[in-house]
Amino acid sequence: MIEVRNLKKVYGDNVVLRDISADIQSKEVLVVIGPSGSGKSTFLRCLNLLEKPDGGTILIEGKSLMDPTNKIHEIRMELGMVFQRFHLFPHMKVIDNITHAPVHVRKWPVEKARKKALELLEKVGLLDKANAKPDSLSGGQAQRVAIARALAMEPKILLFDEPTSALDPEMVGEVLNVMKNLAKEGMTMVVVTHEMGFAREVGDRVIFMEQGVIVEEGTPAQIFENPKQERTKAFLSKVL
Ligand code: ATP
Ligand code: MG
Repeated sequence: MIEVRNLKKVYGDNVVLRDISADIQSKEVLVVIGPSGSGKSTFLRCLNLLEKPDGGTILIEGKSLMDPTNKIHEIRMELGMVFQRFHLFPHMKVIDNITHAPVHVRKWPVEKARKKALELLEKVGLLDKANAKPDSLSGGQAQRVAIARALAMEPKILLFDEPTSALDPEMVGEVLNVMKNLAKEGMTMVVVTHEMGFAREVGDRVIFMEQGVIVEEGTPAQIFENPKQERTKAFLSKVL
């Protein structure tokens, strides 16, 4: 579904991604772990062209993100993104946050978008918050709204960049649960996280990144129980 080949990203003389190659299959949950500054966010941001790669290719369902003749805007709509900070529109009610892109970007009729938004709010357990303003929500609720908002565009792939890192500990579980249910339903997901329990339980594959390279990749069992690289072992000994 996503094929990344020899992806490269530099900021000045800081090589942030060097030669990253990875495949993401349909319905797969790929978890990306690694120390701060290893390039995890940059990798995700390149996947949806929030950052422009300096080399390599990214194919989304066979279509190159780098090919100027492809409709990048349409390909990007297939990718939803959930950030560490929720980035909800503060002046809009929860439901309007969710219907905004479907109505303005996908050009759905308002009624269709509202119906879908209510279904999604039910799915994330927040139907009663449809008319609330974002600042009245807890962090965990806001992040669940952000997930509903990403889903409203009916993306084929969801990218998560540390979706629980900004939350108080008691709210982490409710967000991870929503993500777990999405995984069960067969959503294709790339998840950058420090939640190793989630990585083990929900991940199909884990990538360990350090200094802009993929050091090791495998199933959660391989990476957590039997890491091959010393750098992976050293990282895991710090976080587990
Ligand atoms: P963290 O776990 O702290 O989120 P990360 O693995 O997501 O880290 P990135 O945010 O991808 O790491 O950053 C990788 C490197 O790229 C860092 O050295 C960072 O300083 C640098 N970097 C990231 N974004 C930019 C930018 N817009 N301009 C310049 N340098 C950047
Ligand atoms: Mg990051």
